[in-house]
Amino acid sequence: MSENKKKYREISEIGEFGLINHITKDINLKHSNTLKGVGDDAAVIDYGEICAVVTTDLLIEGIHFNLIYTPLKHLGYKAVVVNLSDVYAMNAIPKQIIVSIAISKKFAIEHVEEIYEGIKLACENYNIDLIGGDTSSSLTGLAISITAIGEAQKEDIVYRNTAKKNDILCVTGNLGSAYMGLQLLEREKELFNNDPNFKPSLEGYDYILQRQLKPEARKEIIEFFKDLGIKPTSMIDISDGLSSEIKHICEKSDVGCKIFQDKIPIDENASNMANEFNMEPLTAALNGGEDYELLFTINVNDLEKVQNNPLIHPIGHIADKDHGAVLITSSGKSIHLQAQGWIH
Ligand code: ADP
Ligand code: MG
Repeated sequence: MSENKKKYREISEIGEFGLINHITKDINLKHSNTLKGVGDDAAVIDYGEICAVVTTDLLIEGIHFNLIYTPLKHLGYKAVVVNLSDVYAMNAIPKQIIVSIAISKKFAIEHVEEIYEGIKLACENYNIDLIGGDTSSSLTGLAISITAIGEAQKEDIVYRNTAKKNDILCVTGNLGSAYMGLQLLEREKELFNNDPNFKPSLEGYDYILQRQLKPEARKEIIEFFKDLGIKPTSMIDISDGLSSEIKHICEKSDVGCKIFQDKIPIDENASNMANEFNMEPLTAALNGGEDYELLFTINVNDLEKVQNNPLIHPIGHIADKDHGAVLITSSGKSIHLQAQGWIH
C-alpha cells in the first residue's frame, strides 16, 4: 500500500496544544449563531434571547486519575466540577450535564453507584440537571466524559482573547495546593508499593488532599461579578497551572503582561508540603495544575470593587505584546513565563 511510504510524526513533536491547533485550524463555522467554536473554555451558541455555553472534558483512568487513591465518589464529583469550571470561566451559569462512562470488568454495580453518588452530589451543590449520557464497556479501565451546558446573555459572556493593555490581572483563591496534594498521594503510593505493610500517613494534609481529590468550581465569583455589576475583560479557568493560562490569555489577546511573585496566593498548606519536597512553592503555583481557580482581567476602574473580596487577588497587569509575559520575582528578577516547565 502506498500508505506504507507515508511519514508518520510523533504527537509528542507538537504536544497537546499543538495537536489541537493542527486538527482544528481548517474548521470553517457554517452557522452564524455559532459565536465561538474551538479556542476558549467553552463554545458559545446564540439563540437570540439567550446564549448556550457548551464544554466537555474527558477523564481517563491511569492518565487523569489513579484509583489506588481516588475514592470513586470524589471522582464523580470532580468529573462534574472540572466542566462547571469551564462554564463559569465564560461568566455563564451551568444548568445541565450529560455524562458518558466506559467501564471495565473490574467494576461492580456498587462501584458505578459510588461514582454516581459523587456526580449527583455535585449536581445538588451546583444546581445542575443531569439530562442524559451514554454507557459502554471498556477493555482497559474507566473513562468518564462529561459535557456541561450553561446559559448567559450575549453581552455578559467573557472570552480569553479580549484582555487590554493596563487591565489588572487577578486570580481567585490560591494556587498550587491541588498539585501538592497529588505529590503527597504519589509519594505515599510509592512507599506502599515498596512495602505493602506501609500505612499511608495522610493525616493533617486534609486541605491539599481535598483540593486534589474533591475540587470546587468558583461559582461564588461569578455571582459576585453579577451582584457588583463587574464584567471582566477576559477570563479563563486555571486547570493547567498559572503560567500556561496566562500565556493563553496573552497569546489570544495579543498582549503581554507583568505579574509579581509576591502577589501570587499560595496557601501555607501547599507551601509546607512543597518545602517537605524540597520544591519551590512558586513552581507548584505556576506549573502545577487542577486548581480550578479563575484567572481574569478587569479594567483598572473596577479594581476598587474587587479589592474587598478576600477571594480575589490582583497579581499584575497587562502590557504591550512585545513586553512578553513576565514574572518579577521577590528579588526583583524578570523571568519570562513558560507554558510549562519553568524551573527555579
Ligand atoms: P480546557 O483546558 O479549558 O478544557 P482544552 O485545552 O482542553 O480546554 O481545549 C482548548 C480548546 O480546544 C477548547 O476550545 C476545546 O473545545 C478545543 N478542543 C480540544 N480538543 C479538541 C478536539 N479533539 N477537537 C476539537 N476541538 C478540541
Ligand atoms: Mg478551561
